[in-house]
Amino acid sequence: MFVGSLSQSVGELTGVGKKTLADYSNIGVSTFCDLISMTPRGYEDRSQRIGIGEAPDGGWVNTVVRVESVGTFGRGRKDVKIVVRDQMSGHKAFLMGFNRTYLAKTVFPSSFYHLYASVGKYGTSLQSTQFELSPMREDEVYNEAAVAIALDGGILPVYSLSGSLTQKSIRRDVKAVLAMYADRIEDELPRSLIEKYGFMPLGQAFKEIHFPSNEKNLKAARRTFAFREVFYLQLEAKRRPAADAAAPRVPIPSRIDQAESHFIASLPFSLTDDQTKVLDEIRSDMAGDASMNRLLQGDVGSGKTLVAWVSALHVASQGLQVAFMAPTELLARQHAQVADALFKDIGLRVAYLDGEVHGRPREALLKELACGNIDLLIGTHALFSKDVVYRNLRYVVIDEQHRFGVEQREALLAKGVDPDVLLMTATPIPRTLALTVFGNLNVSTIRTMPKGRLPIVTYLVDESRRDDMYNAVGVEMKRGHQAYFVYPRIDDEGNSDLRDVQTMYDFLSHVKYPSFKGALIHSRLPEDEKLSILDAFSRGDLDYLVSTSVVEVGIDVPNATCMVVEHSEMFGLSALHQLRGRVGRSSLQSWCFLAYEPSISVDGKKRLAVLKRTNDGFEIAEEDLRIRGPGELAGLRQSGFMHLKYANLETDVSMMAAARDEVSAILERDPGLIELDNCVIRKVLGSKA
Ligand code: ADP
Ligand code: MG
Repeated sequence: MFVGSLSQSVGELTGVGKKTLADYSNIGVSTFCDLISMTPRGYEDRSQRIGIGEAPDGGWVNTVVRVESVGTFGRGRKDVKIVVRDQMSGHKAFLMGFNRTYLAKTVFPSSFYHLYASVGKYGTSLQSTQFELSPMREDEVYNEAAVAIALDGGILPVYSLSGSLTQKSIRRDVKAVLAMYADRIEDELPRSLIEKYGFMPLGQAFKEIHFPSNEKNLKAARRTFAFREVFYLQLEAKRRPAADAAAPRVPIPSRIDQAESHFIASLPFSLTDDQTKVLDEIRSDMAGDASMNRLLQGDVGSGKTLVAWVSALHVASQGLQVAFMAPTELLARQHAQVADALFKDIGLRVAYLDGEVHGRPREALLKELACGNIDLLIGTHALFSKDVVYRNLRYVVIDEQHRFGVEQREALLAKGVDPDVLLMTATPIPRTLALTVFGNLNVSTIRTMPKGRLPIVTYLVDESRRDDMYNAVGVEMKRGHQAYFVYPRIDDEGNSDLRDVQTMYDFLSHVKYPSFKGALIHSRLPEDEKLSILDAFSRGDLDYLVSTSVVEVGIDVPNATCMVVEHSEMFGLSALHQLRGRVGRSSLQSWCFLAYEPSISVDGKKRLAVLKRTNDGFEIAEEDLRIRGPGELAGLRQSGFMHLKYANLETDVSMMAAARDEVSAILERDPGLIELDNCVIRKVLGSKA
């Protein structure tokens, strides 16, 4: 009953037509379930009356007004001006509804309204462009109780918007669904747990997360969801396939076989001690009875990918298959090219797959994969799509992905495959945290950089030294080295003080570096074009690359020695550290220039100074945390590596530990107790079935 009802389309709601349906679908909402699964991005407190003239400049008022006049103005008379007078403070305000023509037809002079608005001073008058009016009946205006009710909107949710959706319309729709179904939502969590931890009934938690009666209940609701979020994540992570579904696990001998030692010997460098240590750990996991679940963390450029290649060979030599997943098409394709070159001579069969591979080529590839003619498949999350069938997938490597690949593992388990999994990240995750959230995860760390690397020299560049910077980069390019120029956005969206890529590319190519060859790359270019530009850059055909932050993750061009980031104050520390990691990838001295605007804040400058002081990603992550204060592990959030909707990695640690222990206990006692496949709440929490 319940599941069926919540899967109805939002189009069934009164007032939701085709246009609204499309707007909803843009923010990922198509069913009732999606709608109530939307977490408010914030709340407005309307539980207090604040009259016009009583709020600070630009502050919010919450009061009852009488409309004195309504008129239209502007081009096509699309803009609406409403004059209102506060019934309590007596002050007057002008409400300016730009492009809100409908107001002229729905707001009437001499009528009374509840007003919620941000009001500012313009000369001698008070004005608002952000306001909400809700009609009141005249008899209510003189009835104190009615006014109190109208004003006491309580704490209201604020959602992300799209198209013509408004806070008001979303609130109305969410309220309608909650009114119909909240009380019928079944709680799949065992009753004993709900009682033990004193959780809110699920239906009430839904109501309170959208329309909190007070701060305390909002907190309790969030706690209810946070526990479940971690609980189900753990359950997914720990679930093993039914014994008969998975092929029996064949331990892989941990010794280094000939192909592998040959390969290692043929590399132009020797492995670092940490790489060797991590490889030993992986080999010994693979020789065990239980499947591996290992997190490999190491700073940018520390040589994680190479560990993946060597261990992939270890598996493929046994005639077993390997899948390597990267977060973007660009990276996946780059990895595929590298692997192809590395493994061609050894006879390892490498293939590439992403969502863009369609039709015949896809069919052919899938066929080869199913009969075991592909040893190493590299690609995006498409590697785990429904129609992709492996002959004997034994090892999955996941590069810089969020949620620890739990979802991918889950998809594979559903196919009866329980592979060894290696997750790689440059985002440092405190060990205790990783263990708390994902109890069964082992952690390996690469601490040392490959030998012969010179520390990158970082400069903070203000306006007066910008030219020196361009000259220094010019000198490097003359020496045959390459450079990146990174900017925060694509085009000038009316924000003329931002140096955007297009303008800067024109400037650099015509004014600064007419004798060098450069190219412009950004995320709106077709994938093919991006790839061919990157190819040209890595072959050395281009001296410099001007780009948005598409180069942030994983691009590997050892001959590049200069990283210029303009508007660096607009990037997070971790992102800047990642960008800087694009250089310093060989024995050449490299430089990173962080140019900033005069408008930079004191804190912003402090942040940049951290990067100048240290090259250590772990230290940078800690500093980031310290500067921004507790409550958010900034680096983690930014990377999207461990994205949780409700649980807070910092403040909910003890609750996460509790959830983990409860899951272990349940799995030991009664593995079938929680039927994951029918869990509605899992969908609500954002985990894919
Ligand atoms: P990560 O993925 O950890 O950011 P990569 O695996 O991309 O780093 O390695 C960065 C660069 O260092 C690559 O060009 C790689 O070939 C090289 N590299 C890896 N291991 C070593 C090593 N032991 N000695 C020298 N260079 C290495
Ligand atoms: Mg990498």
